[in-house]
Amino acid sequence: MVEALTFVRLGLANSDGLPSPDLLDRLAAEAARLLGASCRIDPEPLDITFSYDELRRQAWSTPVLARLAARPHAPGTAVAGVTGLDLFVPVFTFVFGEAQVAGPAAVISAHRLREEFYGLPPNPPLLVERLMKELLHELGHTQGLRHCGDWRCVMSSAHTVERIDVRQAAFCPECARLLRSRPRS
Ligand SMILES: [Zn+2]
Ligand SMILES: [Zn+2]
Repeated sequence: MVEALTFVRLGLANSDGLPSPDLLDRLAAEAARLLGASCRIDPEPLDITFSYDELRRQAWSTPVLARLAARPHAPGTAVAGVTGLDLFVPVFTFVFGEAQVAGPAAVISAHRLREEFYGLPPNPPLLVERLMKELLHELGHTQGLRHCGDWRCVMSSAHTVERIDVRQAAFCPECARLLRSRPRS
């Protein structure tokens, strides 16, 4: 669905929220395997302090998307920002991620995908699995896909980690068909 994918680590000026290079390596490897796309990690992290709301202690994802989309990128290349900060859009308490519909940019947050957020012991493989599902979901939006009613489909909407865990890291046959029929941009 995307030919190439560039990952960008996102955090504050004081490095708060920057995901570890190790986590990005594991996510990029999983993305390369599942998508068959050439994946690279931008060596330069992006400071998203401009999007940070001190009162909410969350970053507003929409301006981050605009900043990511403004970076030079080849046609067919998607840009995925990854952060440990909690994300929001003004109408929601939080979001796991956001993407430009039929645009190049997506952003995902590990904040609420970590077991520690729910008072549980860390589970790094589960974190990578959840991040991968969230990434696939947002990339689906960048390819013009809308939400899907099939709970197992990665394009189903999820506002809890339980729902993310129900999703498979795959598109249902109908969403897969829509992806194939979409002309490459
Ligand atoms: Zn969605
Ligand atoms: Zn679907």
